[in-house]
Amino acid sequence: MIEPKSPPPLAFEPPIDHSELCARLRFPLDEVARLDPAAQERRDKAVQELRTSIRRQGVRASRRVTPRIHRIVCEATRRLLLTQEPEVYVVASPELNAFATTTSDGSPFVVLQNGVVQLLSDDELLAVVAHELGHSGLKHAVGDDENPVSYLYAAHRSSAGEVSADRVGMFACGSPATLTRGLIKLQCGLPDSELRIDIDTVLEQYLHPENVAPGEDQIGSHPELPFRYWAMTRFAESDIYQSLCGRPGGVPFAQVEADIEDRFQALDEGLAFLVTSELVHETVAWLGVLMVASDEQVSELERRVLAEFIGRIWTDDVTAFVRRNGLAAARRRAEKSLENLRHASLRTRQRVYDLVRELGNRSENRERIEETLALVTAAFGQPE
Ligand SMILES: [Zn+2]
Repeated sequence: MIEPKSPPPLAFEPPIDHSELCARLRFPLDEVARLDPAAQERRDKAVQELRTSIRRQGVRASRRVTPRIHRIVCEATRRLLLTQEPEVYVVASPELNAFATTTSDGSPFVVLQNGVVQLLSDDELLAVVAHELGHSGLKHAVGDDENPVSYLYAAHRSSAGEVSADRVGMFACGSPATLTRGLIKLQCGLPDSELRIDIDTVLEQYLHPENVAPGEDQIGSHPELPFRYWAMTRFAESDIYQSLCGRPGGVPFAQVEADIEDRFQALDEGLAFLVTSELVHETVAWLGVLMVASDEQVSELERRVLAEFIGRIWTDDVTAFVRRNGLAAARRRAEKSLENLRHASLRTRQRVYDLVRELGNRSENRERIEETLALVTAAFGQPE
């Protein structure tokens, strides 16, 4: 039987639905993905292919075939206010993983590798399934790595996404410890008979400086477990979470979030990058249009070069601006956003420079490339 420590009530006042629940649990740095129609189409197609392949290799969880999993999925469905039972498949794998996505009609699609099911207790599995349903309910996009800039941020966005999904998992099972215990078991692959999980002792191991410092190029998609556990525990104190659990009081949400965001950004320089990610994207967009546009009209070909690099939404924005206000105005915008990044980390500034240089390699106009790079060095100094 599933017996969470504090079962969340199901009558909300005023009544809310699954997406509203996810919205309230969303970590603010986990930005809602903006997908342009072409990216959305690519994504839907990728999900459809994945679904077809999983249907061929896995077994769909159902009352008759997998009664325990089915019972747990139904419980997660109920607690997360979903109106429809999600499609859940179990596939054989030597790994211990679970993942979820959203199909084009918006319904969740969850895949559990067999070891996850075998290893976890009912309440831990409920927490992990709910975490995955959280990814789907929060509309976490599969990293749109169609252009170099969005590829760069996919990992950072997904770190923030884990924080949100953890909250959904915690809400469903009623305790940060349950989800964390499940995650520890998935990391070491040991069953209950071999483990006496004392969360603090296990987490201490990760706090050793050598284990915390990420490698130069390592951009982890999952923030470390001690942080995730702490962030869940801290969020559980917030008035928003307390009210979702039908309890009065709690620490003001803004105060809790400020703490969590501070620590999230301090996790490593790579994660700190997240805050400036939109700004970097914007800066590269302004510099990019200056580099590729030969005049105010911005030709179709120039637009295409830019869209391949910074995505269509930004391309539409900056080219419309240039047509209306001219290249000189765009140059002022570029200088302004470079100015905003002047105090960003060395790594961030180096990245802006590298991205602009990379776009330069795709552009013909040598003179423009030099001019644009000069704007960057004027703002940041010479790169190393
Ligand atoms: Zn996750």
